[in-house]
Amino acid sequence: MASGPDENGRERIVQASKSADEAEITAGEQALEERAADLTSQSDESEVAGTKDLRPRRFQEYVGQRAVVDSISIAVMASNKRGDTLDHALFHGPPGLGKTTIAHIIARELDSMLVHTSGPALERPADVVGLLSNLKTGDVLFIDEIHRLSHAVEEYLYSAMEDFRVDFMTGSGAFAKSINLPLQPFTLIGSTTRAGMLSAPLRERFGLAYHLDFYSTEELAQVVTRSAGILEVDINDDGAHEIARRSRGTPRISNRLLRRVRDFAEVRNSGTIDSAVAAEAMEIEGVDALGLDRLDRLYLTTLSKNYQGGPAGIHALAATINEDQQTLEDVVEPFLLKIGFIVRTTQGRRTTPEGFEHIGHPPPQTEGPTNQGTLL
Ligand code: ADP
Repeated sequence: MASGPDENGRERIVQASKSADEAEITAGEQALEERAADLTSQSDESEVAGTKDLRPRRFQEYVGQRAVVDSISIAVMASNKRGDTLDHALFHGPPGLGKTTIAHIIARELDSMLVHTSGPALERPADVVGLLSNLKTGDVLFIDEIHRLSHAVEEYLYSAMEDFRVDFMTGSGAFAKSINLPLQPFTLIGSTTRAGMLSAPLRERFGLAYHLDFYSTEELAQVVTRSAGILEVDINDDGAHEIARRSRGTPRISNRLLRRVRDFAEVRNSGTIDSAVAAEAMEIEGVDALGLDRLDRLYLTTLSKNYQGGPAGIHALAATINEDQQTLEDVVEPFLLKIGFIVRTTQGRRTTPEGFEHIGHPPPQTEGPTNQGTLL
């Protein structure tokens, strides 16, 4: 929990309900606090037991995404200078690109507490009211997967974000009371893999919105080299680039592959990790030269062979592969789209000639002008 029992929060609620049944309100609020304690975790700078934290802690350590970092760091500096709270900020882009990391950096640069929760964890309006009422001036509330907030919870955020207050009802029937609860000014940072699924009223309440894109091989090589330094792994430049090339443009994957390559090198006693050692280790992991893993290839072969290259709908593909649809949409497809192996059309997904070539399967014969001629 970000803070202990929040005395101010309790006073505020009781003040706001002079004529209401105080006992009932206080009990209700205690329940909210307990619930909020389950839902939040304080920004924890400590390392997970036995593992080294690879997250950059300051903007200078954050590799790549220059335009985003330049813009958000100016906004942070300006708000520090004015002594204001930072505008609400939204980060969107595929998983593992550094949205959570940047939220933690922002909170640290603002010298603020970060309260971390996620859309699916905030099930009921009471959850979000409890959380908001415990925030102190300048705190950062980070909501991961913000597109998965329920509509009811989302509505509470509108006035919280805009006017720093929430209106909620207690009791029911003749005992129903509307309570207006003022909040301390705070900054909401939302993170989502699906900006399109955010409702317009919520999206409009973010003063700052940024899209994080896939990283270049050069940037990922920097991530690998930095992480290798922290993990005390001996790797040369070629080894770092080999891992970077196979990381699907994603720093989280770079770090995961680095750990796998390190294990392999330790077991083989290979000494310094070079590109040959790194390549061999990643082949064993099922990661090919372009970074596609087993699920990526299964998706591509299913679309290309079972559906003759499409068009195929995502429901059908998910059912055939027996994989969660959201995983395919959030994790598999963005990179295949990015490298041009598939396209999304209004009829469904299609494999491109490059996609067919990668899996070594010939594209189906299309009815070219010559065929058309014979048919007619
Ligand atoms: P997201 O929230 O977008 O899913 P995270 O912020 O959790 O991604 O990032 C995943 C991991 O990748 C982090 O733990 C961090 O170690 C690493 N990482 C992400 N972005 C960067 C970056 N720009 N520079 C260095 N490491 C990064």
